[in-house]
Amino acid sequence: MVCCDDRTDPILISMETGLRDRVAIVAASSKGIGRAAALALAAEGTHLALCARNSDALEQVEEEVRRTYGVSVYADTFDVADDLRVRQFVEAVHRRYGRIDICVTNAGGPPAKLFLETTMPEWDNAYQLNLRSIVSFAHAVLPYMQQRHWGRVVTITSMTVKQPVPELILSNSVRAGVLGLVRSLATQFGPDNITINNVAPGYTATDRMKELAQSKAQMAGGTAAQYETEIAQSIPLRRFAQPEEIADAIVWLASERASYITGQTVLVDGGVYRGL
Ligand code: NAD
Repeated sequence: MVCCDDRTDPILISMETGLRDRVAIVAASSKGIGRAAALALAAEGTHLALCARNSDALEQVEEEVRRTYGVSVYADTFDVADDLRVRQFVEAVHRRYGRIDICVTNAGGPPAKLFLETTMPEWDNAYQLNLRSIVSFAHAVLPYMQQRHWGRVVTITSMTVKQPVPELILSNSVRAGVLGLVRSLATQFGPDNITINNVAPGYTATDRMKELAQSKAQMAGGTAAQYETEIAQSIPLRRFAQPEEIADAIVWLASERASYITGQTVLVDGGVYRGL
C-alpha cells in the first residue's frame, strides 16, 4: 500500500489483513493447497478448523500450526463428500469458537480421464466431491456468517473452469457449476456483508500434480517427469506454482483488503489462460 505525507517520496506501509482472531474453516487441509492456505491464515493470526481424510497428515498440520503460530486449531477427519459429517463439523466448530468468519472449501480432484473412458459412478463422485461438498459447507456456514453480518467464502477449483484440459473432463464439467454457485451466492448474500469468491489454481507442485503427470504418462506414453517438463515449458512463467502462491490469493480474498470483491474467479495460473 502506498501512503503519502509531506515528503516527496511516497512511503510504503504494510497491508493489514484484519484476519487476527478471526475463525476460519479450511477443508481438505492436510496436504497441498489446503495445507498452505491453513498455514498462511494462521500466520495472520486466524484461528483454524481443519479437516481431511488422512488423520496422520492432518495431525502434523495441526501440530505445526500450534507450534509455529500459536493460534487455536480444531481438526476432524472425514470425507467432505459426506454432507452429514460436514454439517456436524461446522456445528462443532461453531460450538467451540462461537463464530465462523471464513470458510475455504477444498477437496481432492476427480481422476484424469478422457470422456469415453469415464463411468457414470465417476460422474456422480465428481459431483459429490467437487460441487455438492461446497453446497454442504455453504449451507452450514452462511447462517452463522449472516448472524455476525460478516463472512468470507473462498472456493478452490481449478483453471479448468476457464480453460478446459482434455483429460480432465470431470473437472472441466463439474467445476463450472461452482462458478454458477459462487456468482449466485455472492448476489444473494451480498446484503449480509458476505463475500464469496473462487480461486482457480493452475499447475501447482503438490501430490495432485504428480498424480496427474503419472496419469498423463500412462495415457500418452513417456514418463511423468517428461510430461512435467513439457507442461512447465508451456506456462508463460515457465514453472509450476508453489502451493503457498495459491494460498496468498486465498488469504487476500479472505481479508479485509478484498472487502469489495465478490462473485469473482481469481486465476492463479502463471498465465496459462490466454483469454482476455
Ligand atoms: P493434494 O493431493 O496435494 O491435497 C489434497 C488434500 O485434500 C489432502 O489434504 C487430502 O487429504 C484432501 N482430500 C482429498 N479428498 C478429500 C475428501 N474427499 N474429503 C476430505 N479431504 C480430502 O491436492 P492439491 O494439489 O492441494 O489440490 C487441491 C484442489 O485443487 C484439488 O481439488 C485439485 O484438483 C485442485 N487443483 C490442483 C491443481 C494442481 O496442479 N495441484 C491444479 C488445479 C486445481
